Amino acid sequence: MPTRGPLVDGFGRVHTDLRISVTDRCNLRCVYCMPEVGMTFAPHAEILTFEELLRIAKVARGLGVRTVRLTGGEPLVRRGIVDFVGGLSDLGFDDIAMTTNAMELARLAAPLAEAGLTRVNVSCDSLRDDRFAALRRRGDLATVLGAMDVADGAGLGPVKVNVVLLAGVNEDEILDFAAFARATGRVVRFIEFMPLDGDHHWSASNVVASADVLERIEQRWPLERVQQANEVAPAVRYRFRDGRGEIGVIATVTQPFCGTCDRLRLTADGFVRNCLFSAEETALRDVMRAGCDDQVIEGAIRRAVWEKKAGRGSDDLTLLRPRRSMSMIGG
Ligand code: SAM
Repeated sequence: MPTRGPLVDGFGRVHTDLRISVTDRCNLRCVYCMPEVGMTFAPHAEILTFEELLRIAKVARGLGVRTVRLTGGEPLVRRGIVDFVGGLSDLGFDDIAMTTNAMELARLAAPLAEAGLTRVNVSCDSLRDDRFAALRRRGDLATVLGAMDVADGAGLGPVKVNVVLLAGVNEDEILDFAAFARATGRVVRFIEFMPLDGDHHWSASNVVASADVLERIEQRWPLERVQQANEVAPAVRYRFRDGRGEIGVIATVTQPFCGTCDRLRLTADGFVRNCLFSAEETALRDVMRAGCDDQVIEGAIRRAVWEKKAGRGSDDLTLLRPRRSMSMIGG
């Protein structure tokens, strides 16, 4: 394992992006993520303090991490999030983004932008009130759409919109979302349903393949691939040929993109994960609380990255449900 130089794994993939989950708690209960009742959350004492999170982020920055995404749970339900973004901003990252359900975003968009947040991805899986309510079980569509406008106005745009598609549930809105992208300039990203739901209802048959999504949109509005040099983003991007907007697909299930993965994750309770699907995690919280120095944190991060498997947490890209579900890992 290298002890200096870039944060590299055994396959030569250099890691420059850190996903930080700031909480495992959420104000919604989306059907593809959390159970409606009975979710148990980590006790507050087990969640990293903002000081601890900043310490790890600083070490990661020193190891060449350039971009950070905050997630959860729902990052905006954690008190003090604005100051935390300010602390991250002081560390000199190129980009500090957030994935949010936007229920609290209208109130916080301006202070977050001022603190240094650069952009937001908003999750929104239906443009119909009743279906939004059924899919997300709490919250409401009008609040989310209003918050997107506020975020754009605060300089956090163009907002990207995350849509998890469930076969037979919201796939009939693919064209509505494509029209929404064309009308608003927001980049809609269609995400394949992954086996990370707390209810354990996932099966291959309720995944809508990204290839089908593209085909359906293409029949109505021709698309062309947006080619990027050194592409590492999970979403494959397409623009409408007539120049009106852009969409993306995230095909984790049907076309994994692990070969270019540059991401590592920190869970809210202080474990480094080298993949959403990995079976192993590296514990940082308890060693930090026992008084370790930064070199120990650095070594733990380096080792976690070095031990990353070929893809989806395995040697042969087999898709297996990890022990923890999405809200506990941080999406
Ligand atoms: N609470 C925030 C939100 O709703 O965006 C951030 C956390 S959420 C876990 C991050 C992203 O993961 C969201 O875009 C959500 O739609 C997605 N997600 C959650 N469970 C998923 C699953 N089983 N398959 C695919 N995407 C999922």
